[in-house]
Amino acid sequence: MSPRGWAMLTLAGLGIAVVVAALVLIPWQRPPAPRADQLAALRELPADQVERARQFRAALRPGGWTALGVGLLVALALGLTPLGSRLIELVGRPFGDHWIAQAIGGGLAVVLVADLVTLPFAAWRHAVLTRYGLATNGWSGWAVDLLKSYAVSAVIGAVALLGFYTVVRLAPRWWWAFGAAGAATLVALLSFVLPVLVEPVFNRFSPMPPGPLRTELMELAARDSVPVRDVLVADASRRTRAVNAYVSGLGPTRRIVVYDNLLREATPAEVTAVVAHELGHARDRDVPVGTLTGALGAAAAVVALYLIGSWPPLLRLAGVDSVAQPRAFGLLLALVTVAGLIFTPVQALMSRRIEARADAHALALTRDPEAFESMQRRLAGINLADPDPPRWEYLYSASHPSTVERIAAARAYARKAPA
Ligand SMILES: [Zn+2]
Repeated sequence: MSPRGWAMLTLAGLGIAVVVAALVLIPWQRPPAPRADQLAALRELPADQVERARQFRAALRPGGWTALGVGLLVALALGLTPLGSRLIELVGRPFGDHWIAQAIGGGLAVVLVADLVTLPFAAWRHAVLTRYGLATNGWSGWAVDLLKSYAVSAVIGAVALLGFYTVVRLAPRWWWAFGAAGAATLVALLSFVLPVLVEPVFNRFSPMPPGPLRTELMELAARDSVPVRDVLVADASRRTRAVNAYVSGLGPTRRIVVYDNLLREATPAEVTAVVAHELGHARDRDVPVGTLTGALGAAAAVVALYLIGSWPPLLRLAGVDSVAQPRAFGLLLALVTVAGLIFTPVQALMSRRIEARADAHALALTRDPEAFESMQRRLAGINLADPDPPRWEYLYSASHPSTVERIAAARAYARKAPA
């Protein structure tokens, strides 16, 4: 069988594996909270809070969707016309057209162009966040964070580009197989290593001082059989008013991280509700499960890129001979961008199911639906979440159940739970 035949077989196998993993590991059965409960919850929220959240979301919407559209157009312009390959040649020229210069310099230049074009929309977003009091870091803080995230992406991107095009040179007929394995490994590595390496670039962490809340959280984790080493406080208030908490690390390094904003704004019972939700993620192994499906998806994506990328009309449009050339990186980026837009709603759906399970876990663990509900109200108030967002937006991109869904779930639990 030819490499192409093997690639089709591999893609079919990976596709089946992704579907089976998603069917088995994602909690699909849980019925959503009754819509009547959701509407009752919506009516009870303060009208001015709902109005302000909707104004805020409406202010973000035009920039957000335009950025998505412009990003797509630029990716298509760089990938489906010779523009991308010319840019990469241009970057490689001072280095004697060396393939490493084309691969790393050219690849990063293409990504940078795509980023710079959407930069005005990112700035607009920051202006809206500032106007509504959600961003607290000012323009210089925003710019520093932006440069930091560019730097992190550039380092990871350079390693990935060099690795990928080295494999292509070493195995010109079978690169897709090694590339698929490499992409899966990279996803796994980033998922476990990135939080540990990147968190300290953006935040400083300090141990939560001993006290009733710390004791309560450590006990909660022990009761849940999710041993944690420590409870840390992140100084997120330097940049945002948003409140959050998460559990990161594995085994002996596992820790609970709580934003300082959360401690300032919420009651201890509400903080406990948030942490119980995060412990649910740890307990149900949501990060490893997400990593597994992500790794399988990344591997499938590489094989699909190989197969789609050898279609002659696409190569002609991009002005390249093969999708495996460094000069064809724009074409790869265009295909990845389109795939990303198509799979966003699928990922959002899976994420919402997993988040709903973590909510159910938090309710069962704390048996405190009142604190859970008041936390949801508070979260929505601080983060200016639309408690019941437009259906199409929710279906396309919402990573969490809506506020009214989460409140309705708490009420359904309270009705069923023994007093
Ligand atoms: Zn969650």
